[in-house]
Amino acid sequence: MNLEFSPEEQAFRDEVRAFIAESYPKHLADFGMREDMEREDFLAWHKILGKKGWSVPAWPVEYGGTGWTPTQRYIWSEENARASTVMPLPFGVSMVGPVIYTFGSEEQKAKHLPGIRSGEVWWCQGYSEPGAGSDLASLKTTAVRDGDHYIINGQKTWTTLAQHADWGFFLCRTDPTAKQQEGISFILIDMKTPGVEVKPIKLLDGGYEVNETWLTDVRVPVENLVGEENKGWTYAKFLLAHERSGIAGVARSKRGVEKLREIAANETAYGEPLIKDFDFAKKVSQLEIDLAALEITELRTLAGEQAGKGPGPESSILKIKGTEIQQRLTELTLEAVGTYGAPFHGGVSNDNSNEHPVGPDYSQYAAATYFNMRKTSIYGGSNEIQRNIITKMILGL
Ligand SMILES: Cc1cc2nc3c(=O)[nH]c(=O)nc-3n(C[C@H](O)[C@H](O)[C@H](O)COP(=O)(O)OP(=O)(O)OC[C@H]3O[C@@H](n4cnc5c(N)ncnc54)[C@H](O)[C@@H]3O)c2cc1C
Repeated sequence: MNLEFSPEEQAFRDEVRAFIAESYPKHLADFGMREDMEREDFLAWHKILGKKGWSVPAWPVEYGGTGWTPTQRYIWSEENARASTVMPLPFGVSMVGPVIYTFGSEEQKAKHLPGIRSGEVWWCQGYSEPGAGSDLASLKTTAVRDGDHYIINGQKTWTTLAQHADWGFFLCRTDPTAKQQEGISFILIDMKTPGVEVKPIKLLDGGYEVNETWLTDVRVPVENLVGEENKGWTYAKFLLAHERSGIAGVARSKRGVEKLREIAANETAYGEPLIKDFDFAKKVSQLEIDLAALEITELRTLAGEQAGKGPGPESSILKIKGTEIQQRLTELTLEAVGTYGAPFHGGVSNDNSNEHPVGPDYSQYAAATYFNMRKTSIYGGSNEIQRNIITKMILGL
């Protein structure tokens, strides 16, 4: 595999970099944590990309994809990471969008894909329940047919950013007598339907990123069923593979390591820049080595996708290594800011506080980010579950 970028790819990088410099909304540059953001802040870059035709690069061209090669897509994510952009959220673009264009009806494609592309419609994911996380197939939310509607009852949890969502994709049990995986359907629900209630959950970092979603006698037209009734598990698994490969976040971690090096050059240990401390420098170097190895693995996966292979069990490897690196990065960043990280008071940012931040700007979010990133080894299927998948699907044990 040739890892040098061709002159055309370099030209593409220049084009992307110039476009971001010119078009990225300046007011978004200042957010330290995404929990501080309003709905329109999340969507601002997405809407600009929608107009440019760049919001769903990985989709087939007939549905609005850019037709970029895997390398171009990689350059695209690298340049966005470099500029710390707020990228389109995955729930529409990389989760339900591919399910709809692969398994949905023509009406569903016409109704839902344009809003995902343009960033006008916000989606959330209703998979997990209080008693169904890793063991997702034990979910209990029911959808009972009543004429040309389903009546849906149950409770979902950890529904990320559902407080802003217009639509959600939900896994519901449509055949309680079938074997667990066989009685599940994939249903699209308008979040404004009577009976849908979203209740915030406060997290360790002080933010409200996730919710409980209660469904009480929610009447949903049968045309919102995706694919076949009781075949939802197939679509759910397809979606999870897409979700996992997006979680690795290599380009963002590379930018994070650069920032960490800047912080460690500014902070001191025993009168010397921290980055000259042997133990600390060794930890940063190890992180960089692991990240370089992950980057190659991700490029190989992208090349496989280009050759027509969908994301398969390798996405579990990307998920585990990518999230371990993200967590180590936030641990080292917290270590680098040292005591400046200590005044964390459970709020996401100090922006609304009368108190002056005690340390440099880069220390302000170190603790909140550290706490927030504990989630990455849990969501998208916990890392233990990914190891089980690798054992079975790749090692054949
Ligand atoms: C921040 C955040 C956002 C999320 N957003 C969403 C969302 O938008 N929509 C949604 O539907 N869900 C969402 N989730 C839920 C997420 O998918 C689940 O938390 C995850 O699947 C784990 O399920 P659980 O929390 O029920 O833990 P459990 O399944 O109860 O697991 C508890 C522990 O046991 C381990 N374990 C369980 N089974 C096994 C096994 N067979 N082998 C080895 N170890 C095992 C797990 O690894 C974990 O460490 C989110 C979670 C978080 C933390």
